[in-house]
Amino acid sequence: MKIKITVLQMLFVALFVFLTIPNLQGQNTDSLSLKKESQHFTFYSTEGDVAVLDSLAEILENNYTRITNQLGIQIEKKIRVKVFPDIGSFHTAINYPNAPDWVVGSCVGDELLLVSPLNPGSVHTYGSLMQVVIHEFVHIALYKAIGDKVVTGLPKWLNEGYAQYEAGQINEQIRKSVEISMFEKMPPTWAQLNSASAMEFGKINGYGLSVSIVEFLVVTYGTNKLVLLIKEPENIETIYGMPESTLEKQWIHYVKHEKLD
Ligand SMILES: [Zn+2]
Repeated sequence: MKIKITVLQMLFVALFVFLTIPNLQGQNTDSLSLKKESQHFTFYSTEGDVAVLDSLAEILENNYTRITNQLGIQIEKKIRVKVFPDIGSFHTAINYPNAPDWVVGSCVGDELLLVSPLNPGSVHTYGSLMQVVIHEFVHIALYKAIGDKVVTGLPKWLNEGYAQYEAGQINEQIRKSVEISMFEKMPPTWAQLNSASAMEFGKINGYGLSVSIVEFLVVTYGTNKLVLLIKEPENIETIYGMPESTLEKQWIHYVKHEKLD
């Protein structure tokens, strides 16, 4: 449970940083230099982290075509991946010097910033950072697919839910946490999730709920409709042939393993 919450908090901060700091003025990347290029990415790191770049390149390239094909996009330029040697230098780079240890990844424009999986700090692990890097890449791909609509039109639950789903960050622990919370009380509506402040979103298990909604939509109605929804979230009723409120009810049944009406 502790790990789940901290990972979710980390993702929350990643989005927060993404939305609020357009330019990383505090970024001091003097010590990072180009160390590796793969087909679609360039990697910047210190000498000490060169050893992890092959693994990062492999996991990013292995997910690249699936995600870009799914969104129907081609990305012209290579995406820059900056690997910071420790949590302190990463926090300085994102202008958040006193951030807690669970803040380990972010993306700004088409640049992906990450604490080295070789030195993940007290909260994260090598393995969780290998998921975080895909999550952040999905945010970049979404931005390429719909531009500023990511900020102005894409529901928060869809942005965060899709990034987590594609990064393989849903698991039994998260499913269980969502299910248990629903037996205690009604979940927030999708509109409420979308209008929650970044702070509230984290507090109400917005990340867990979001990836659960995306899983329900994919399992029940398929990926094609989900991608249509990403591109035209305002047309949810036309795309699914029912009002959002009906989908919400179906989702609750799905989580509780109940038969649909
Ligand atoms: Zn995110």
